[in-house]
Amino acid sequence: MRIGVIGAGQLGQMLGFAAAELGLDCEFLDPSDSPPAADCGHVIRAPFDSHTALETLAANCDVITYEFENVPVEALRAIDDEVPIYPPRKALQHAQDRLAEKQLFESLDIPLPGYAVIDTRDDIDRAIDVLGLPIVIKTRRLGYDGKGQFILRDASQADEAWQTVGNNTLIAEQWVPFEFEVSVIGVRSTAGDVAIYPLTRNEHRNGILHTSCAPIEVPGLTTLGGSYVQRLLEHLDYVGVLALELFVVEGKLLANEFAPRVHNSGHWTIEGAETSQFANHLLAICGRQPGSTTVRGHAGMLNLIGEMPAAARRLQHGALHEYGKTARPGRKLGHITVVADTAVERDRLLADIEQSVTQST
Ligand code: AMP
Repeated sequence: MRIGVIGAGQLGQMLGFAAAELGLDCEFLDPSDSPPAADCGHVIRAPFDSHTALETLAANCDVITYEFENVPVEALRAIDDEVPIYPPRKALQHAQDRLAEKQLFESLDIPLPGYAVIDTRDDIDRAIDVLGLPIVIKTRRLGYDGKGQFILRDASQADEAWQTVGNNTLIAEQWVPFEFEVSVIGVRSTAGDVAIYPLTRNEHRNGILHTSCAPIEVPGLTTLGGSYVQRLLEHLDYVGVLALELFVVEGKLLANEFAPRVHNSGHWTIEGAETSQFANHLLAICGRQPGSTTVRGHAGMLNLIGEMPAAARRLQHGALHEYGKTARPGRKLGHITVVADTAVERDRLLADIEQSVTQST
């Protein structure tokens, strides 16, 4: 089978590597000059909303998927009758608009932080009255890795917030004093079979994922998080991998956002689970049963951001994944995964690696 992938970044690259292992071909669509996934298949170099390019991809491939959630939904509509597109457009529509996403969580009884729609400057004052402080104002569309966000700790910052982000459609959210952040990654096949990976604990720095560790055992939360993902998968008649990010606060889970795609917090599954999230996404969209999501030990993943540390290439433990991207501040250039027999050993290895790569940058 030939898979068309919209986007040829590192997620496309890792899908491409998994596809090769499964004996599947990939073709990509991406406007960049030398995208990471160029190693894994032909890349049609064109804008994501190019009708001609999407038509070519549809004609060449048996199924189409994507590696980022800001795929132009309208452009996809034109090829919808020609080839299956998974995950379904409905999932993209919800994931592209934070308001639609929150309304979806509410309709499925998935708890979430308090929020308010911000259309005018005065709405910020009203949001402060209703939600209290601090709040975070986020753009409804096109925000990622903490971009397009303004944290308001004091009412006197309302004008500044409006000047900074007010030219977008916005929502305000209660700032959650979370104990830690987790994600739950699930996969659903065309036949409706669901498999869920164990809970992953995530640490973000400056809004960008820094480390992920799995499995983590918090009594009750693994099952609860899995049930929220199952609700999303079933409601959306979903096919492929979906990642739900949540805050753990006072022992409860509050949903932050979901991604209708393979996810950075699931990179550990390449070495740390019997079937990686990439293989599972491909199996699902090709009409096959999901593979086992059982872990192979205790995994930890460290993102390499901004520059590639020399020490990353001299590690005694850990698998280095380099995406082949040009270094730039804030850019994800690669990651390292360790798998150990115990969580204590995993944490020690990850801390050692973090120290050595930090020293060498
Ligand atoms: P997002 O782009 O919404 O995923 O936000 C990026 C990161 O900012 C999250 O992973 C959290 O670490 C932090 N963050 C976002 N929203 C909130 C919130 N309402 N309360 C506390 N932290 C938040």
